[in-house]
Amino acid sequence: MSETLEVIEPATEAVLASFERAGAEEVDEAVARATEALPAWRAMTAGNRAALMRSLVQVMEDHHEELAQLEARNAGKPIASARGEIGMGIETFRYFSGAPEQPIGETIPADGGLALTVREPIGVVGLITPWNFPLTIACWKMAPALAAGNTVVLKPAELTPCTSVRFAELALEAGFPEGVVNVVVGPGSTVGRRLVEHPGVGKIAFTGSTEVGAEIAAGAAATIKRVTLELGGKSANIVFADADVGLAARSAPGGVFDNAGQDCCARSRILVERPVLDEFLSGLEAAVAQITVGDPLDESTTMGPLISAAHREQVASFLDDGETVAFSGTAPDGPGFWLAPTVLCPVDPGSRAATEEIFGPIASVIPFDGEEEAIRLANDTIYGLSGSVWTRDGARGLRVARAMESGNLSVNSNSSVRVTTPFGGFKRSGYGRELGPHALDAYTEVKTIYVRTEEE
Ligand code: NDP
Repeated sequence: MSETLEVIEPATEAVLASFERAGAEEVDEAVARATEALPAWRAMTAGNRAALMRSLVQVMEDHHEELAQLEARNAGKPIASARGEIGMGIETFRYFSGAPEQPIGETIPADGGLALTVREPIGVVGLITPWNFPLTIACWKMAPALAAGNTVVLKPAELTPCTSVRFAELALEAGFPEGVVNVVVGPGSTVGRRLVEHPGVGKIAFTGSTEVGAEIAAGAAATIKRVTLELGGKSANIVFADADVGLAARSAPGGVFDNAGQDCCARSRILVERPVLDEFLSGLEAAVAQITVGDPLDESTTMGPLISAAHREQVASFLDDGETVAFSGTAPDGPGFWLAPTVLCPVDPGSRAATEEIFGPIASVIPFDGEEEAIRLANDTIYGLSGSVWTRDGARGLRVARAMESGNLSVNSNSSVRVTTPFGGFKRSGYGRELGPHALDAYTEVKTIYVRTEEE
């Protein structure tokens, strides 16, 4: 395939960059390069691999602003957010740069001898990433995969390949051997699919929609590939009447409108206990009025455009279902794929807005009565990625968080993603965990070696 891919800047609709679009053949070439690089990479001493990862951290830090500007323009995210996200990518490499030198197994008493376990790299790992946090999510996958001794072939979303391609250049600059980090820019339907089906790829780590995740799991089955999936969400933000309601209301926009709502963790269902509904809504309205939607490169911007015209249309369709708009913010006119942050209330829990992932700046407020109903509503979804509980009762906060069928919860906070803690979903939000100490499980095989010590 030798078509040209034009990458569009969502805030201006102008062409930001052009790439030669890869196809299945280029995937085969990348897998061949990654396979060739594998023996030396996995055999490298732990100290040398750790040192290379630290060198990459330094190079990324040197290019932090450049990467942030590129991400802000390509994905349409406010520059301040882009700086934070690239910073998290760097932190991810810093965190996993310690992994090569950590203990890698156990010794287990076994009849007549001793068994020991070691962790081995899987081999060539395929990484398929979405457009909403392009380089950050790629780093969540690459850092543990590389630390564990795998080589990688990364397929970024076609809408946002720029920082991933630049990253591959920086990895070489940091001293990574050729073939250890490979990036292939092309569509999911050909490049992604080939990576999933390729017999030389041992594992696929995917972040994206639940629909494509299901296709990937099915496609990987034929070669018994390992798969981890980080998929969609429809998370609940529960505000009890005994909470600091003002704080919950001020924080709510960050939980649902961050990245213009294009966030798998978006707490897009805000469940509010009926006695404090009016108080909460007036606090939320004031907070939404503070959101500045505009040019991602302007330092005062707090929300950018949506990623594409098609996505904007899909998100805006949720405003045509007849749900009551309680209030909304403002957004520029075109060019650019703008949509004002909008709060719907009261929303019927069975409606499309309350059940489907919107992945845009639309929040559904649903009133409830009592703890039991809050938990039932929160769990009434096929997803289970994130969520929050607001209450001044510490025991209730923990009790409700434990009752919620979701992988990442917070009490009196809308933040649930950290480099040092596991991240992943329950139910159709996926399986496997990224970040934190569990991430290495996703990129290694456990090998048991039994040594007989007693004589026959
Ligand atoms: P998609 O699932 O459409 O795409 C994700 C990636 O998969 C892209 O790189 C895409 O390629 C690729 N892809 C598409 N089809 C296939 C296929 N058949 N085989 C292999 N790869 C394929 O999601 P979006 O990028 O549109 O992101 C939005 C969705 O992702 C939302 O539903 C959101 O919830 C979810 N998401 C989940 C996250 C999480 O951590 N759980 C984080 C971010 C998003 P291309 O687009 O280039 O064709």
